[in-house]
Order: sequence, then C-alpha cells, then structure tokens
Amino acid sequence: MRILIVGAGIAGPTLAYWLARTGHEPTIVERAPQLREGGYVVDFWGTGYDVAERMGIVPRLLDEGYRFRELREVDSRGRRVSHLDPLRLIDAAHGRYVSIARSDLARAIYDAVPGGVETIFDDTVTQLHDDGHRVQVEFLHAPPREFDLVIGADGLHSRVRTLSFDPEQQVERYLGITVAAFDIPGYRPRDELVAVTHTEVGAQALRIALRDDSTMVCFMFRHEGDLPLDDVEAQQTLLRGRLGGMGWEVPEILDRMQAAGTFYMDRASQIRLPTWSHGRIALVGDAAACPSLLAGQGSALAMVEAYVLAMALQDAQGDHAAAFAAWEQRLAAVVRGKQDAAIGLGAAFAPRNRMQLWLRNGVLGLMGIPFIANLAMGRSLRDPIDLPPVPAT
Ligand SMILES: Cc1cc2nc3c(=O)[nH]c(=O)nc-3n(C[C@H](O)[C@H](O)[C@H](O)COP(=O)(O)OP(=O)(O)OC[C@H]3O[C@@H](n4cnc5c(N)ncnc54)[C@H](O)[C@@H]3O)c2cc1C
Repeated sequence: MRILIVGAGIAGPTLAYWLARTGHEPTIVERAPQLREGGYVVDFWGTGYDVAERMGIVPRLLDEGYRFRELREVDSRGRRVSHLDPLRLIDAAHGRYVSIARSDLARAIYDAVPGGVETIFDDTVTQLHDDGHRVQVEFLHAPPREFDLVIGADGLHSRVRTLSFDPEQQVERYLGITVAAFDIPGYRPRDELVAVTHTEVGAQALRIALRDDSTMVCFMFRHEGDLPLDDVEAQQTLLRGRLGGMGWEVPEILDRMQAAGTFYMDRASQIRLPTWSHGRIALVGDAAACPSLLAGQGSALAMVEAYVLAMALQDAQGDHAAAFAAWEQRLAAVVRGKQDAAIGLGAAFAPRNRMQLWLRNGVLGLMGIPFIANLAMGRSLRDPIDLPPVPAT
C-alpha cells in the first residue's frame, strides 16, 4: 500500500522503517524544514528498547546516550538534600536502559529508514478526503496526491487529528504542568553524569551536562494560563516571569536562556480518543494517545505503537480495518493504564503545596535505601506488552 505518514518525530520514522520492511511504500511529510532538534533527555527502556533492538539501532543509542551515576536533589543554595543511584534503575531493567537526548533518538531512528523512502520536509497536509477506497490528500505546497492510508504521527497538536477526528479541545487533557527544555553552551557549573534537580512548590528545575560542553535545562511548572505555542520570545518572557523568583541557579539559568541553541516548550497533556482510526486514516504516538511527560515513556510507547501497527497491517494482508482494530485491541488498554498511572505523578515534579513538597522529599529520601528503591522501580519498570515477532525478510 502507499501510505502517507504525517510527522517525522519518533513514531513516524519508526512506522516508515517497519512499513518499508514489510513491503509497503511509505512517504513521510514533516512540517519542519529538517528533523527537529532540541527537547529533553529521555529515559529509554522497556518494550520501546526491544523495538529499537529489532531495528538494530541500540549500539548507536548506547554510544550517543548517557548512563548517569547520580540523580541529585539540591536545596536553594545548591546543597545536596537527597540522591539516587540510577544504576538501580538500569539493574531493574536488566541493563536495557539508556538516557538519550530526544533529538539523538529521533535521528537514529530516521537514519535507519531505508534510503528509498521519500520524505517531504517543510510541508504539511491541509485536506484529507477519505472516499472509502483511497485518501485524497492536499498539501500546503506539494501538488495533491492519493494514498491508500494516511497515518498521523504529528504529535500532541496533531493536524491529522483536527482534520479527521473530534476537535482537539475535546480530547486534550492538560495535567496542569508546562515543560520547557533548552540547551545552554558553556554553562558552569557542570556535574558530569549527574542529573541535578531543585524543586520548590509549583516548579522543578533540572540540569544535565551533555557532550560538547552543552548543558540541557528542563523546567516543569504549574501553569494555568494560555501558552503561546508558536512564539519562543513570549514563552521565554512567561518563563522569566513565572520562575524568576526560584532559588538555586535558576535566575542565572534564565539569564543565559537567550543563548540557548534550541528551545522547546509545551503543555504536559494527555490525548485520549475513543478510537485511534477512522476509515483509512489513523493516528499513532502522541497524536493518538499522548501519555504526557509525566509518564516518562512517550517516545518508547510511540515506537511500540508504530511497530505493532506495521505488524498488524502485515498480518491483515491489506484489510486495513481489521489491522487497525487488532492494533488498537492489542495496545489501547496498556497505553490507557500508563496514562492513568501518570496522572498522580505531577506532585513529584511540581508539588502543589508545602505538604506535597515535604512528602515528595521524604519519598525521595527513602528511595536512597536500596530495598525500597528496587521494590518501587522494579514495579514501575514492568511493561506488560508482548511484541509480535519480526517478519521474515
Ligand atoms: C522538538 C521536540 C522536542 C520535544 N521535547 C520534549 C520535551 O522536552 N519533553 C517532553 O515531554 N516531550 C517532548 N517532545 C515530545 C516527545 O518527543 C513525544 O512525546 C514523543 O517522542 C512521542 O513521539 P511522536 O513521534 O508521537 O511525536 P513528536 O516526537 O512530537 O513528533 C511529531 C512530529 O510531527 C511534526 N509535525 C507536527 N505537526 C505537523 C504537521 N501539521 N504536519 C507535518 N508534521 C508535523 C513535528 O514537527 C514532529 O517532528 C518533543 C517533541 C519535539 C518535536
């Protein structure tokens, strides 16, 4: 089948890889002029790791990723108040765990896509008409084309979803926390392979020293007003106003923000749809079922959804309706479970009040005790998804 994939983030290129391997003809259209840079460092493990392994990209991820030796929480004067050894996380995941910049993960996936797959950058879809036999697609720049299927892998604010599903307002569930991530060149101090966090009522700041003398900063904060989604200057003004009063290195980090090479800011939201497909159009990754940053597994789940979708299409031998149904049946409950689990985690990142902050710090202190940490992490690292086998080539 000729299949249009909208979005070259994590889910889109993973799907393109597996569709190409199973004999389809995928085309990717990406709104940005090139693969997007920036974003935070994701913890990558679980079934998503298995998919990456099947794509042969794990050695690259291990090479480009990081294995942190400490997660350190500091007070407003930078003194360590608690810490955690991430090796326990890695052990609990049987060594199948790596922390990697989102953009490095995205590029590794994209580079694995076979050379013959067409990618149209700097364009997007404006109209989708599913006549029951084909989907007629209109683009912003390219001439109209016909595809057998269209898959929206265009993230939290999916245009495919807006064009073909219920309006976004009805499905986006904002969790009350906004996230900003950017990288600062040459920032000091640096703590190699240590993730340093400082948490106050309503907000958390995190900094991680990356390669090439770069530092990744991530803020998570409670925010109820509007978010200017396409205006970086307005986003930075919002950040300064909202977080300027925080302690630790935050005022200095905000001063250096203008020098950031990349800047990302968005709501921590979930997408919950009654179904992931309509006729010949389906959604995958954040577009279909964003679990939010709080779930800590968005990229891995996006890869799993893409892989299972490609396998379902292979099994159904051209019956897309049967494939979409089987795919959703296999994954929707698991994904919904991850979403439900994430909802209660906001207090760990941005406690609402002093009591929540106190409780959070207490739990973090307990996590320093190996037995409790293993118990808690072992459970949260379990991933109840059985992947279908890789097709014979
Ligand atoms: C640059 C960037 C930085 C990110 N940083 C963070 C972060 O710091 N914290 C966090 O929690 N999550 C972040 N995310 C989201 C995170 O990557 C996703 O939750 C996860 O990877 C799921 O992947 P996905 O492929 O479904 O969506 P995404 O990784 O979001 O990819 C969607 C892709 O679709 C493209 N796209 C969007 N709209 C259109 C359109 N109309 N037409 C064509 N293409 C379109 C986007 O440019 C993007 O390349 C970031 C996403 C991006 C794009």
